[in-house]
Amino acid sequence: APIVRLEGVGKTYQTGAVAVEALKEVNLDVFAGDFLAIMGPSGSGKSTLMNILGCLDRPTAGRYLLDGQDVSTLDDRQLARIRNKKLGFVFQNFQLLPRIDAIANVELPMLYAGLGGKERRRRAEEALARVGLAERMGHKPNELSGGQKQRVAIARALVNQPLILLADEPTGNLDSKTSVEIMEIFQALNAEGTTVIIITHEPDIAAYARTHVTCRDGRAALRRGDA
Ligand code: ADP
Ligand code: ADP
Repeated sequence: APIVRLEGVGKTYQTGAVAVEALKEVNLDVFAGDFLAIMGPSGSGKSTLMNILGCLDRPTAGRYLLDGQDVSTLDDRQLARIRNKKLGFVFQNFQLLPRIDAIANVELPMLYAGLGGKERRRRAEEALARVGLAERMGHKPNELSGGQKQRVAIARALVNQPLILLADEPTGNLDSKTSVEIMEIFQALNAEGTTVIIITHEPDIAAYARTHVTCRDGRAALRRGDA
């Protein structure tokens, strides 16, 4: 069974008298171990699709089954729980807390999940080592380069062993050499079995994915196969 199944998913934003149909009849299956890139021009529905996949927003039509569970009708609190338990997020602007060091940033999702201090520390060290940042654990975000910040963010996204790693323009603030390094980390994680979904404008970045979804005017076209 797919870990993600979208069935006829639609999303309409209602702003006063104006309705914008951001997604129309989207059907999509994502399987464990897949590496998916969501592409498409500005305004085509990528963010809306990502927000729904990431349980940050609900569809206004159709169903979303995540790991077999219908999450389309959950309330905000239930969605927040699912996000923390099942999903890991990486953002273009890293979204690290500036006042605490790398390892404390990585420990945060485990704090919310209620894990004990020793277990948090152990898993955070392991995750930072996995992204090649074992030597920078005590550094605060402003003492790290962009690529190092994104490594911290990836480590943070991994520590609760998510079903899916979701990354929204993860290389959007990085130079091309650093972008390659970051994409190689996603590639290595995917090779170890992590399911990865990224949004990107850039064909060079999308080329790391195995499955491509192209959004256009709220519709999503899927293409499977080797990049
Ligand atoms: P991206 O850079 O990923 O294409 P956008 O600029 O489309 O993102 O959107 C950024 C944020 O603003 C998203 O959370 C999106 O839902 C929201 N947004 C986009 N268009 C509108 C709009 N017309 N009215 C209100 N919010 C919007
Ligand atoms: P993309 O990420 O591909 O740029 P979005 O999903 O942000 O596309 O937007 C798709 C369409 O929905 C656009 O027409 C956008 O203006 C509109 N939209 C996105 N978010 C909102 C919102 N919160 N309120 C109203 N319209 C929105």
